[in-house]
Amino acid sequence: MLTALLNQQVITTIHYSREELRRLRREGVSFVCPHCSSILTMRIGSRNTPHFAHISHSDCELVRGETPQHLLSKQLLYGRVSSLYESVSLEHYIKEIKQVADIFVKTDTADIAIEIQCSTIPISEVVRRSNGYHREGITPFWILTQSLKSKKLLNLTTFQQAFIRYSPSLDYFLLQFLPDRGIFHLYTRLLPVSSTAFMSAAPIIIPVAEFTLPPVIPNVPILPPYSLSKWNDFRTKWIYNKIHYNKARTDVFLREVYGEGDTFLYLPLFIGLPVIPHGIHIRNHEVEWQYYLWKDCLKKDSLFSLESVSNALNRRLTKGHIEFRSFPLQKSDKVIKKIAGGYLSVLEEVHVLRKINDTFQLTEPWSCPDHFSAFEQHKHDFFPKWKHILKKL
Ligand SMILES: [Zn+2]
Repeated sequence: MLTALLNQQVITTIHYSREELRRLRREGVSFVCPHCSSILTMRIGSRNTPHFAHISHSDCELVRGETPQHLLSKQLLYGRVSSLYESVSLEHYIKEIKQVADIFVKTDTADIAIEIQCSTIPISEVVRRSNGYHREGITPFWILTQSLKSKKLLNLTTFQQAFIRYSPSLDYFLLQFLPDRGIFHLYTRLLPVSSTAFMSAAPIIIPVAEFTLPPVIPNVPILPPYSLSKWNDFRTKWIYNKIHYNKARTDVFLREVYGEGDTFLYLPLFIGLPVIPHGIHIRNHEVEWQYYLWKDCLKKDSLFSLESVSNALNRRLTKGHIEFRSFPLQKSDKVIKKIAGGYLSVLEEVHVLRKINDTFQLTEPWSCPDHFSAFEQHKHDFFPKWKHILKKL
C-alpha cells in the first residue's frame, strides 16, 4: 500500500523522495493502517516503489494483491490521473460497501473507481466489486495488468477474457497496462479461433502520459486482421484436434454429428463461419454452435425465422451444450438474437439462404459431403463466395 496514517494525517509514499522517507523512518515515527489501525512498516528498496506493509498476517482489505507490479501501476496511473483531475485519491476506502478503490477520481460528472488487477481472482469477485460500486453510483474502471501470451494469436485465460469490452469502433477489445514500460496495449477487433486463442489487429500503443478517462483512442487506422486462408486453417486445425483428442463415443457434439449421419471431417464450409462481432460471446467453436443450429432448425424446416433460430440457440445454451464467455465489464443486450441474426446474414451473403420478407429459406437442400472428392468439389464451389464476404468484413 502507498498510503498510511502518521499522526492521524494521510501520508503517501509517492509524494516523498527515498531520502525523505528514510529520514522519517529513522525518526522512529509509527505508521498506522487507515483501515484496520494496525502498525505498518515502511519498505524502501532501491527498485520497488516505496510502500507500507502490515507487519503480521492480516485480513485487512488493503493487503490483497500488493505486488511490485501493482504498486508501480498505482504510482504511474495516480500520477497521470491526478494531472487531469483535482480530486484524486489513492487507496480510497468506501465505507458503505467496505471496498478500497486503488484510485478514486471525482470528476464534474462522475465518481470513478480505478481497480488495477494484476493477480487472477475469481470472476465472481470482479462482479461483486463492480456491483458494489454501481450500488453507490460509482463507475468502476478495471485495468488488467497481467502479461499476455501473444505471438501470431493472442492467447487469453478465462480471467483475462473477462476484461474484454465492446465499442462500435473497436469491436470487442482488450486494454492491457504494462507498468514496466509505462504504456497500454489496446487489442482491437478480437476474433476467437478457439476457446482461448484470438486473432487481433496489432495492439495500439497508448503511453500512460496520454491516458484519459475514458481512454481516447489515437487516430490510427485499425486494419481487420482477418483473412480467408488464416480463418480456414484455424477451422481445419480445430476439426483435426477434435478428432484427435476426443473419443467420438463420449464427445456430446461428435455423437450428435454421427447420429445424424453427417461426416464431421467434411462438414460444409458454411458451418463454422466467423460471426463478427458478437459471435465472440460463445466459447464453443463456430463449427459446434452453427452445426447445432443446422441440426435443430435450418436443415429441418423449409422456412424459418430469426426467432426460431434464436430459440434453437437458446435451448442449446440452457442444455449446456453451448456456453457463453463471461464478460462482466460489458453490458450485453439481446446477445442471442444478435448472434443468430449475424449468422443468418452471413449465410445470406454466401447464398446458402435467401430472405423472403421476415423468413429465410435454403437455396439448396442440405447435403453433407460424405467422401473426400465430394468435399473437394464443395470447397471448390464455396471458396469464391466466401472470399467475397470476408473481403467485406
Ligand atoms: Zn490494514
